[in-house]
Amino acid sequence: MNHFYFKDNQLYAENFLVDELAKEYGTPLYIYSKNQILKNYREINQPLVNSKLDFINCYAIKANSNPEILKLLAEEGAGAEVASGGELYLALKFGYLRNKITFTGVGKTDEEIEYALRENIFNFTVESLQEIKVISEIAHKLGVIARISIRVNPDIDAKTHPYITTGMKENKFGIDSKDIMDVFKTANELPNIDLIGIHSHIGSQITEVNPYIEAVKYLGDLIEKVEKLGINIRYINFGGGFGVQYKNILTHRYIPTEEDETTRYSPLGEHVESVLKMLSSYNKKLVIEPGRSLVANAGILVGKVLYTKQGELKKFIITDTGMNDLMRPCLYQAYHQVVPTALKDTGFETVDIVGPVCETSDFLATKRSIQVMNRGDRFAVLTTGAYGYSLSSNYNARLRPAEVLVDGDKHYLIREREKVEELHI
Ligand SMILES: *Cc1c(COP(=O)(O)O)cnc(C)c1O
Repeated sequence: MNHFYFKDNQLYAENFLVDELAKEYGTPLYIYSKNQILKNYREINQPLVNSKLDFINCYAIKANSNPEILKLLAEEGAGAEVASGGELYLALKFGYLRNKITFTGVGKTDEEIEYALRENIFNFTVESLQEIKVISEIAHKLGVIARISIRVNPDIDAKTHPYITTGMKENKFGIDSKDIMDVFKTANELPNIDLIGIHSHIGSQITEVNPYIEAVKYLGDLIEKVEKLGINIRYINFGGGFGVQYKNILTHRYIPTEEDETTRYSPLGEHVESVLKMLSSYNKKLVIEPGRSLVANAGILVGKVLYTKQGELKKFIITDTGMNDLMRPCLYQAYHQVVPTALKDTGFETVDIVGPVCETSDFLATKRSIQVMNRGDRFAVLTTGAYGYSLSSNYNARLRPAEVLVDGDKHYLIREREKVEELHI
């Protein structure tokens, strides 16, 4: 996260003091670093370029669908992985080529399918036989051909939080091994369906490369079986899910070191590199769908302390930044490093850093050691560029925060803070 750093005990975002940005735009405030996003994208993309394989690098836009961020990655040549008609609309509006858009999701509506078919997108990743039949019918009605990839559930433990595993037997995603050959056979015979590929996305925040190696091996074995049926698989898609670091992002003598059970984080390019050799032997075109890894460490959420309160058992730091701004701690028990924007030599105390929302689960951090914070102090919740704003809500009729993009010595407001009048339209 080298585009966010401390200098003279002050937190910077590229060339700007975070406190200055917070004064100008108010809090809660998401701040993104353009150069960090570009760096992440290039790190993941370069091994694919070097491999000389045909590939499409589809940004999973649910991670962060701010229009300026969408445009930035589209300009870099990224495709888009979309999970709803709304995301498809955004991808088309903000510069993604139709032939680089892939549509995933267990619950596509008829209207969404028709929309995507009319737009002639590259691919539907399908998750059940029933869905394939519906796509076939709608494509037939429109007189078009739907390109589809079948999402398989390889039953691999991605060793991540249970809410973000997607490739195990008990998950709703993909098609189970026991049914997979039948589904390929049936799908291949349906009218208006061009069965082009095979897909697996086994989960999110995967920090090791082994689950990918297992998944790609599973896909290779399956392709061999499927091709024996005379079905020509042209695309292999191994999803996204590349894990990022959430602890000890910024270190300083005034910041406590965080205990981290993960001892090694694979560098971004390594997930792709680890499977490239195997993939090149399959001789297919590749699709990958990174989301979090492109944007997570390129964003911070800045908030302000409203009150401090000593309870009987613990001390609370009550802030203006709640679960409606950043849902991950309450939704996934996610851990985000929280740092003051101005470091002081106060020693550390252990506190719960909470929001103003009327829910006990409304916290940014619990039992957290941090310098002594007082009313008016600002802090930054780190690594919040992915699944931060995109999961935000109006709960408690709170206004969604503003978003700012910094680029060297320039900064731009890329989404205005919501206004109360917008709450009833
Ligand atoms: C969410 C999702 C991704 C992206 O996952 P990350 O962990 O953000 O990289 C990719 N593919 C599919 C099908 C997804 O649902």
